Amino acid sequence: MFNKILIANRGEIACRVIKTAKTMGISTVAIFSEQDAMALHVAMADEAVCIGPAPASESYLNTDNIVAIAKQTGSDAVHPGYGFLSEKSEFAAAIESAGIIFIGPSKDAISAMGDKIRSKKIAEDAGVSTVPGYLGVVEGITEAIKIAEDIGYPLMIKASAGGGGKGMRIAHNSAELSEGFQLAANEALASFGDGRIFLEKYIEKPRHIEIQILGDKYGNVIHLGERECSIQRRHQKIIEEAPSAFLDSDTRGEMGAQAVALAKAVKYSSAGTVEFIVDEKSNFYFLEMNTRLQVEHPVTEFVTGIDLVEQMIRIASGEKISLGQEDVRCDGWAIEARVYAEDPSRNFLPSTGRLNQYKEPVTSDSIRIDSGVIEGSEISIFYDPLISKLIAFGSSREVALEKLKKALSVYLIRGIAHNIPFLTAVISNKRFAEADFSTDFLAEEFLEGFAPEKAIGSRMGIFIAAAAFVRAKIDSRVNPVASNSYIIQSADLESEKIPVEVEVSWDSCNAIVNVGGSFLPLESDWSPGSAILQANINGVDHNFVLKENEIGLSLTSGIYRADLIILTPSQSRLYGYMPANEEPDLTRYLLAPMPGLLVRLSVDVGDVVKDGDELAVVEAMKMENVLRSERDGTIAKVNFLPGDHLEVDQVILEYDE
Ligand code: ADP
Repeated sequence: MFNKILIANRGEIACRVIKTAKTMGISTVAIFSEQDAMALHVAMADEAVCIGPAPASESYLNTDNIVAIAKQTGSDAVHPGYGFLSEKSEFAAAIESAGIIFIGPSKDAISAMGDKIRSKKIAEDAGVSTVPGYLGVVEGITEAIKIAEDIGYPLMIKASAGGGGKGMRIAHNSAELSEGFQLAANEALASFGDGRIFLEKYIEKPRHIEIQILGDKYGNVIHLGERECSIQRRHQKIIEEAPSAFLDSDTRGEMGAQAVALAKAVKYSSAGTVEFIVDEKSNFYFLEMNTRLQVEHPVTEFVTGIDLVEQMIRIASGEKISLGQEDVRCDGWAIEARVYAEDPSRNFLPSTGRLNQYKEPVTSDSIRIDSGVIEGSEISIFYDPLISKLIAFGSSREVALEKLKKALSVYLIRGIAHNIPFLTAVISNKRFAEADFSTDFLAEEFLEGFAPEKAIGSRMGIFIAAAAFVRAKIDSRVNPVASNSYIIQSADLESEKIPVEVEVSWDSCNAIVNVGGSFLPLESDWSPGSAILQANINGVDHNFVLKENEIGLSLTSGIYRADLIILTPSQSRLYGYMPANEEPDLTRYLLAPMPGLLVRLSVDVGDVVKDGDELAVVEAMKMENVLRSERDGTIAKVNFLPGDHLEVDQVILEYDE
């Protein structure tokens, strides 16, 4: 077994690998960019070495530096995590030629599976079901149209070198094919330096289901069942689960057997994933093989009880897999939600900044959190916006879902925008609860993104009771004989602002809240200072995330939110005389919504634009964000050029009025 391993990654996955190494008694070396000097993975590792400046191309992607540090620290092996260099066969080769072991498959297996045309051919030869299509490079548009007649529309135009959804387009007819072919080829050339394109049938309303496999260096391969990852936004997975509610045991068995056959065909050793799409009639088709640990691996670990990182390390060190296929048992249900620094109400714009308050739900046998941050950590523009993964386990899908919902409701993140209410909305959706979905689910149900819904009616009564309780607790600390009478109203300009008279009276530690004549008993051990209120109100458990605003409290509970103004009766009498705050008029400006690189300016001075037109593209956190006009107008001034770095709220351009 190894004495020391280097983890060529950052964030949650670096922390994840370090945890298992620790339990195996292996020392760990972290690498970090200048940006990450204070990062959690650096603190967790036994040693840590700075690898270079913040941009990944100068740090986490610098093979020469990583190999040099691995040698200099006496590391026996390198774990690449996912992303960065994990699927670069040149990286695996460079590690091995330095006499160090790469914790992953052979460089040959990585390169065979890294090219979509090549991997599809290998899969077909191994008897794996592939998407019907043309298995060669399509040379030009005329040839594409001819091939399309054989395959039939709709079809998928794909880049052989593709990944992350890039260079992929759907065509419903020959006109769309002509246009899409060129666009996909250009995008693939720009992103991967390789414009080879192939065509396959577009499978309508598919589900994405993948098989986890494990192979060793002696030709033994087993599979650990499936994960379903159909909840995707722009081909990026957001919620994953194991098992899949869709598969019957025959289909599951066949998919497992084919995944094993493919792994054997490329002499696969290590953990890997064979991805399939499955149509409405349970026909399944090979998509690609990921030759690394997947982001969503924890759901498999929960249902099988097998530590995949431990297996990867043991296999790399030359051990045989100690399990036979019959030893793999899948029990219960696990669901993972990816917590991102992004704003679902603003087209999922990535958010950067400091986590000035950060408190994770309590972990247990059924709640796991894989994160790479702590309170005070910074989410920067340089890396991807994943904050953590929250994984819940239960005896059934319903139980796991309930646990996930509860854990999300006590997860506190402050300082940046995040997607927790959105995740709650997705898992609370009726179709999701019934497992009635395909990869189109988010586009069908959440096309406009998501903003918390306003609490109204009796729900508003519950929010008001919670707010009054919090305020009364705070006031009673200052003045134990205070009356605890309040006038509460919504601060939201759009809702009716009818003030409600509220009175809190105490019954030992608990309270009775009189909300406009309705008496609501409230039990809670909340104390001032905590940003989470867990309360039983009128017999029902509720969790609220609290935030003080100027003259009251904002409360979020699940997918609902209320912004409340809380006044004492005497303040209330004077409140009407307060001048209203005038919001500055910013509609003349396009502001940078986040720090980043201006990659494209789509308009010039004098251009007339319409609501919805593209104005500029800003790159941050590995993603291109299109900034669109929110009005009609004429561009009067342009303050930055492509290539410029933007700070948040800098004025990129101005309209004439
Ligand atoms: P990438 O390597 O860019 O991630 P994949 O081939 O893994 O691309 O596909 C990503 C996603 O695109 C899949 O999960 C599925 O949602 C969709 N997809 C890919 N190929 C097809 C197809 N032939 N028909 C329908 N959807 C597809």
